[in-house]
Amino acid sequence: MRPSPRDRPFWFCVPPRRAVVWWSLPMLTHPRLRSIVFVFAAIAAPVSAQIDTVQTIAPGVYFHQGDIRRGHSNNGWIVFEDFVFVIEANFPSGAKVVMPKIRETSDKPIRFTFNTHHHGDHAYGNQLWADAGATLVASTGALAEMKTAETGFFGGAPGRWEGAAKNRPDVAESKLKPPTLLFPRELFFDDGKRRVELRWFGVAHTKGDGFVWLPKEKILFTGDACVNGPHNFVGDGDVSAWIKTLEAVKQLGAEKVVPGHGPIGGPEILADQQTYFVELQRRMKALVDARRTPAEVKAAVPGVAAELKTIPNIARYVPASLTATAEKVFRELGGQPFPP
Ligand SMILES: [Zn+2]
Repeated sequence: MRPSPRDRPFWFCVPPRRAVVWWSLPMLTHPRLRSIVFVFAAIAAPVSAQIDTVQTIAPGVYFHQGDIRRGHSNNGWIVFEDFVFVIEANFPSGAKVVMPKIRETSDKPIRFTFNTHHHGDHAYGNQLWADAGATLVASTGALAEMKTAETGFFGGAPGRWEGAAKNRPDVAESKLKPPTLLFPRELFFDDGKRRVELRWFGVAHTKGDGFVWLPKEKILFTGDACVNGPHNFVGDGDVSAWIKTLEAVKQLGAEKVVPGHGPIGGPEILADQQTYFVELQRRMKALVDARRTPAEVKAAVPGVAAELKTIPNIARYVPASLTATAEKVFRELGGQPFPP
């Protein structure tokens, strides 16, 4: 999902009432945008019955679908012999939702919390998990991305955290806590009964996307490298590399796939996520090859979105506005930025 109010359009995803409060306040000073925001708020989609509930995926393996209206990511947790391993720190408010639910499933100490990547909805709750005794785990790429984005923490100008803190009280009340246990490509947890493998397969949603693979159960937690719904943010990634990375991930043979946002599914989620980008990229490439100007390409985007929505297995990935995503893909293919 998207990292901060500055980087995310107000219409991101399904813009519900609370999203208006947290992500759109700076824009409410503009009367036209304000009216659009409230129209979207009024047509917010009904909430899935699965949101904010705990699902047991396998014995000792749990899934909690975050409430995207509050910006929350999905969480997972795995109960080892002596400890609990948590997937995603979430935003601080999301951590507070899920922590008591973990306690309902196990009284073992939460010893590790894994950031699949550096974005706020996956890593800004880190301080709360550290306070609860957890060591924070991420790929080396995720920490590198954090250093680029969180310039305020790392000694430079205010970065994304400071931007998010302006609109999110939960962020303002906490502080950034970078991960300390890092791995370049893989890190395994194995107590003889349970095995969890953390893996990095390449650039996708970010340069640091880590996956959680349970080889015995064939369960895969993907972070935002794979979502299940209109939740893709491509600004920190590379769509061409993302398609290749998903190809490598598919080779694991996962039977249950837990996305970073949206409901749990099977291997079709990985395939559909990949197909969505392939189909989008194909259409943008045709526009590049036809030497269309950025303005012409921008004007063509709603038509591209409408076409993608007619493809049954990927229609659910097409967001309310495809412009930012399409522009990123266009630029990756050598195109110039869209005019305002
Ligand atoms: Zn993300």
